[in-house]
Amino acid sequence: MAEIRLENLRHSYLAQPRGEEDYALKRLSLTWQDGGAYALLGPSGCGKTTLLNLISGLLTPTEGTISFDGRDVSRATPEERNIAQVFQFPVIYDTMTVYDNLAFPLRNRGVPEAEIKARVSEIAEMLELTRTLSNRASGLTADGKQKISLGRGLVRPDVNVIMFDEPLTVIDPHLKWQLRSKLKELHLKTKRTMIYVTHDQTEALTFADQVVVMNLGEVVQAGTPIELFERPQHTFVGHFIGSPGMNVIPCEVKGGKAVFGGEAVDVGNGEAATGRGRTELGVRPEFVSIASSGIAAEVVRVSDAGRYRIVETRSHGHLVKLLLKEGETVPEGRTFLAFDKAHAQIYEDGWMAGARR
Ligand code: ATP
Repeated sequence: MAEIRLENLRHSYLAQPRGEEDYALKRLSLTWQDGGAYALLGPSGCGKTTLLNLISGLLTPTEGTISFDGRDVSRATPEERNIAQVFQFPVIYDTMTVYDNLAFPLRNRGVPEAEIKARVSEIAEMLELTRTLSNRASGLTADGKQKISLGRGLVRPDVNVIMFDEPLTVIDPHLKWQLRSKLKELHLKTKRTMIYVTHDQTEALTFADQVVVMNLGEVVQAGTPIELFERPQHTFVGHFIGSPGMNVIPCEVKGGKAVFGGEAVDVGNGEAATGRGRTELGVRPEFVSIASSGIAAEVVRVSDAGRYRIVETRSHGHLVKLLLKEGETVPEGRTFLAFDKAHAQIYEDGWMAGARR
């Protein structure tokens, strides 16, 4: 396993890129610790696959370096990088047994049969495939086949990193959570460096200790699930993570407060705000509450979301959502809102004022 360091990495599919818009991956520097569980999260087209292919060696970066444990591998072949990859669709040999499928990556490298047997048994045990080892892979369901793919990724003890590219795409929704928790368990057991690519926030947040959120070819935040939830550094992270996403209200900045519709709201980062650029107030629905005085609002809609209700209000022409737990009274018509100061932040041109970038 290895520490993976990306330094000033940038990639364009054009031979002679001119402006920033010609880069599918904008400049990025990141370090992934040995043994960590990481997710790359972002919408379609944000550059996840490009980054993955740069790390695996299928693409050579236009600029910057990739190193494994301090060794520059930017121009090394995929074989030299020694990476295991699990793709969206199971990559298995239908005519072979489950055992032979799992053994394949080891046999390919000339590992002695006794060692292969021990390793395959261990991996099959972890994936609950032991009983199917002598069956032909063709008879398995899609999730069974994808488990073999996972197993083939995990079976070699010497790989630098295992990368999963949307591995649950073909899995039935009701089995997804099983495989998701299995993957998390496998990480805890094996302590391999794992990078999980997905556009699904639940998959990213449940799997990873650190989530790298990408948008438009750029990393907008790398942080723990709690950091992404409590301190979204960009309004995109506020929208993309959370359900419903963060409320974003256009505002002015006066005396360190966010001002909209004549309301002056205390925020957590007022001192850092400059008031320049496009200024917005961001607060997640979880940090908005009903109050007896404060920010004037009107309830416009209430919807049930299981254990809580989503209350949509309108305040000075802006939509503001909040969550109420079961049993809490939903006000009718006019009411007041309070924002939790520590979790209300000013954003300037999309970025949280004062956030390190
Ligand atoms: P998805 O989840 O849909 O796979 P993604 O986040 O993985 O999306 P990429 O496939 O990395 O995103 O694409 C990033 C950008 O690079 C997109 O604008 C895409 O059109 C462009 N792109 C990707 N592959 C190529 C290619 N081979 N040649 C030219 N442009 C490409």
